Amino acid sequence: MDGWWNHAARIDLSTGNVTSHAIDETIYHDYLGGRGLGARLLIDEIAPTADALAENALIFAAGPLTGTTVPTAGRFSATAKSPLTGTICDANVGGSLGQAFKKTGLDALIITGRAPEPSVISIKDGDITVEATDLWGATTTDACSALPGRTAAIGPAGEHLVRYACIVTDRHRVFGRGGLGAVMGSKQLKAITVQGSADVPVADRERLKEYVKKAGVKLSSSPVTSRGLRQFGTPILVNLINWLGMLPARNFQQPADERADNLSGETMADSIVQGHEGCYACPIRCGLRTAVGEGDGREQGKGPEYESTWALGPNLGIYNLEAVTRANYRCNELGLDTISTGGTLAAGMELQQHGTADSMPEFGDAAALASIGDIAHRRGIGDQLAEGSARLCQAHGCSVSMTVKGMELPAYDPRGAAGQALSFATSNRGGCHLRGYMIGEEIFGVPKLFDRFKTGGKPEVVRRSQERNAYLDSLILCKFTAFALNEPFYPRFLEAATGRTYSVSDLHTIGRRIYTLEREFNTAAGFTRDDDRLPERFSEPLETGASAGHTFDMDAMLDAYYAAMGWNTQGQPTDETLKALKVPRLHEATSPAPPGCRRPWFPRDR
Ligand code: SF4
Repeated sequence: MDGWWNHAARIDLSTGNVTSHAIDETIYHDYLGGRGLGARLLIDEIAPTADALAENALIFAAGPLTGTTVPTAGRFSATAKSPLTGTICDANVGGSLGQAFKKTGLDALIITGRAPEPSVISIKDGDITVEATDLWGATTTDACSALPGRTAAIGPAGEHLVRYACIVTDRHRVFGRGGLGAVMGSKQLKAITVQGSADVPVADRERLKEYVKKAGVKLSSSPVTSRGLRQFGTPILVNLINWLGMLPARNFQQPADERADNLSGETMADSIVQGHEGCYACPIRCGLRTAVGEGDGREQGKGPEYESTWALGPNLGIYNLEAVTRANYRCNELGLDTISTGGTLAAGMELQQHGTADSMPEFGDAAALASIGDIAHRRGIGDQLAEGSARLCQAHGCSVSMTVKGMELPAYDPRGAAGQALSFATSNRGGCHLRGYMIGEEIFGVPKLFDRFKTGGKPEVVRRSQERNAYLDSLILCKFTAFALNEPFYPRFLEAATGRTYSVSDLHTIGRRIYTLEREFNTAAGFTRDDDRLPERFSEPLETGASAGHTFDMDAMLDAYYAAMGWNTQGQPTDETLKALKVPRLHEATSPAPPGCRRPWFPRDR
């Protein structure tokens, strides 16, 4: 079947057994690849109530476009149950790993069990081995340099089961969110190396070439994809979001700060940027090669990207570009998700501000960034910080954790965009901007501008955004392409690659199926409407800045959103919806909670 190899591999690390894993053709058609395929395979491997650090499976998956010439078609996806949130969690990465994996003749790799000693999985054109390694303890940079081919590795953070440890490839491209690096660490799996040389299966190469050419014209004529991202990288957002009063400072206690320009894309371009680079087959090239310091103290690396800049900068009250850039390098080397690292440090700093945790660092203290190493190795206060902000705040009895479902929120104050607020609240992997990126609609007007403070009609727009991102994560393509390409491009790419006919509507149905399957997993793990909440801080309007004076009726938006998704008033997928979307039922029906009965969110060690 063109587009896919119809072949996955399954590795039981406990025994070292490698077996071929058949995937039914209908699963490809219903879930595509990447995030969708990962979710569908995961439910066959673990129970939703499984212990994320003891009973988990980790699934890497490519998509039907991976390794083709379609712009940005080099991405690669990982899926498991998150040790940070207890939800299902996927993360996808750019760089060049995905295309190399697809060229080995595999669509997916299912990893179960725990190796008896630190190990590396090597895949060379379908030949798969598991071998012991002495790289345990190495940084991600050193591990990737020591191994052949394209490599994904964890650092000390993953080895020490930091709940937001990430997996790193190409030095700074990361499977970032949700602690998938800790899942690898729990399996004593240091790295995966990939060398592939096969031609990926494409049904109609001439047709694909024609669509790729048309897409290239669009991408090179959009000001966002041809200039903004290419010239300044994602930190181009810093000044804009700060100006809109949505760039959170000091753990979301302030909406903006006049020093933000110290960290902007424009300032980086004039100071630390050495060059630009792109992931495989990407003409946008938003990656920044940077350098800071002089003489013996000079360091070179990649990034920081926008979210990392904010998380390690304004959210901690730090506006020193060199300190933030070095902190970003450390997170990548140690294998830490920058957003959760910054969000957890920010919560610790606010605990210190309130006198609840004197051992924590103070806002604005750039020296506090040295504690990143302590987090990765669980030394001193780093051991508490390694648990994430929700558990940290729970331990100190003070609720200043800016999380949804236990995952630290990214760099947008939700009071500045009603749809983004709803998207944060209903994200299936917790506080995340990538499930539904309403900043496109509410700030950039892409594909259409909506008043950012109005709630009317937003639940439907959020649903479509979440569906679109679910299918993009499953094809797998970079979401930045959507700034320039209208939706009909995506089914055309897919048709040319697979030889099957798809419409935009078909892709939205697939996106909704994926989102509903993830929701069904979470429901069976115990998540309810009460988990679709923003922190209490956001029930009060901002007092200053361009987003002052606005809050939203989240309950009303949730009611409309659930209805749009075909879920009941508790946010559980109904039997009719599961049947219509062909999603397996995983949860037992439960009685609705009494109206007004709301419990606080607590981290779950499910
Ligand atoms: S736009 Fe940036 S993140 Fe996306 S594929 Fe291109 S270089 Fe990678």
